Amino acid sequence: MEARPQRLPIAVSGDRAPRVNIWQVGCQMNTADADSLSEQFAELGMVPGVELENADLAVLVTCAVRQHAEDRASSRLGELAAWKRSRPGRGIALTGCMVGEHGSSLLRRFRHLDYVFDMREPDGFFARLRDLYQGALEGPVPLPASDRLLAYLPVILGCNEMCTYCIVPFVRGRESSRPAEQIELEARRLVDRGVVEITLLGQNVNSYLSPEDGTGLPELMAKVDRVPGLKRLRFLTSHPRNASGRLLDAIADLPTACEQLHLPVQSGSDSCLGRMKREYSVSEYLRVLERARARVEGIALSTDVIVGFCGETGDEFASTLGMLAEVRFDMVHVQAYSPRPGTAAYRRADDVPLAVKKERLQSVLELQRRISQERNHSLIGADVEVLIEGRGEDGRAYGRTRQNRVAWVERQAAPGETVTARVTAATAWQLVAA
Ligand code: SAM
Ligand code: SF4
Repeated sequence: MEARPQRLPIAVSGDRAPRVNIWQVGCQMNTADADSLSEQFAELGMVPGVELENADLAVLVTCAVRQHAEDRASSRLGELAAWKRSRPGRGIALTGCMVGEHGSSLLRRFRHLDYVFDMREPDGFFARLRDLYQGALEGPVPLPASDRLLAYLPVILGCNEMCTYCIVPFVRGRESSRPAEQIELEARRLVDRGVVEITLLGQNVNSYLSPEDGTGLPELMAKVDRVPGLKRLRFLTSHPRNASGRLLDAIADLPTACEQLHLPVQSGSDSCLGRMKREYSVSEYLRVLERARARVEGIALSTDVIVGFCGETGDEFASTLGMLAEVRFDMVHVQAYSPRPGTAAYRRADDVPLAVKKERLQSVLELQRRISQERNHSLIGADVEVLIEGRGEDGRAYGRTRQNRVAWVERQAAPGETVTARVTAATAWQLVAA
């Protein structure tokens, strides 16, 4: 991968452990990767989590799913040139999905970038740091006290699907499930450190298969559910084809499992789904949602939608709007299609004009704002369980309900506490409860 020898010309300033600033963009998997890097830096004897101006090393955890995410990383890298020049010995390293996509050509493109590494194989990077810093590393540094209540826990890496628009299988590799025993142990460690809500992560989390005994996500959830002290369990992101009845049973029956299912649909038109190679039809998808609503009382459903995919006609887009209006999701994440070099769709014409993509994006946002507002309004007078996550500037406590709605609670409540409160007001995006 090395186009030119990777450098890390870091000179430690003074007689102190080197300090690291970690910048991150992208999905929850990158948040989990950034957390894992922090732990590895601390283990090595470096101090993670410092402000950029006080750092010796800047690390970027990047995303390549859309061009916009890549542009953000490039612009951050651009800004870091002056930061690096302002004190000799500073270094810059980059990891995440951009490495899978561009590899070491990044070192040629950004001359002030010192090191790129694959998040799946960070050992070489840490070995290089160990060599460079030697004397300045005095064994593990305690991680700064964390009041972290929520944590992401990756359980399956990579993706075996081949959705034609998506770069993930190319940059994150094939699926590989982590041992259930190790996941359970990590869940216990997180809870011991104060975490009360865990989200099990994977690009296609419901195709998890334990390497020990071939059991799936429902069995893994049952194991994590039993970790003493854990209050809530969620999982992200599921593929509609693998949303089994047993998974719905797990959501319904396990005490910590939250009544929430995020199931990306991407389009409400069969022809568009075919071009995307999603491998299900709209009616098959709708049947999964029907089963979910029948099996899990009060389940919140959310989805991802791409507008302006190659060849998306006005009728196809109208089918997507119609499907969204019919299902009435609790939440919809919508993106305009962004062509990704190397994917199958990249060979097709990106023929929906930008202005039309923007219009369609706005139409979805507007429709969903109205639906979310109506759904949240219908909760006024109902009791919701809120896990308090913190306090706003006005001192009010806020948190999320089991269905993942943001709620402000107008009573005394401490972070980590779970309170049952009655909804008194609602907007499209939040509830107020007392
Ligand atoms: N595995 C999940 C699934 O089956 O949909 C989602 C993971 S993907 C990294 C997250 C979201 O990014 C997708 O649901 C999709 O909406 C969006 N996405 C992926 N590739 C995209 C592209 N080329 N342009 C726009 N959005 C894209
Ligand atoms: Fe990408 Fe499709 Fe895999 Fe999701 S399932 S990560 S959209 S290839």
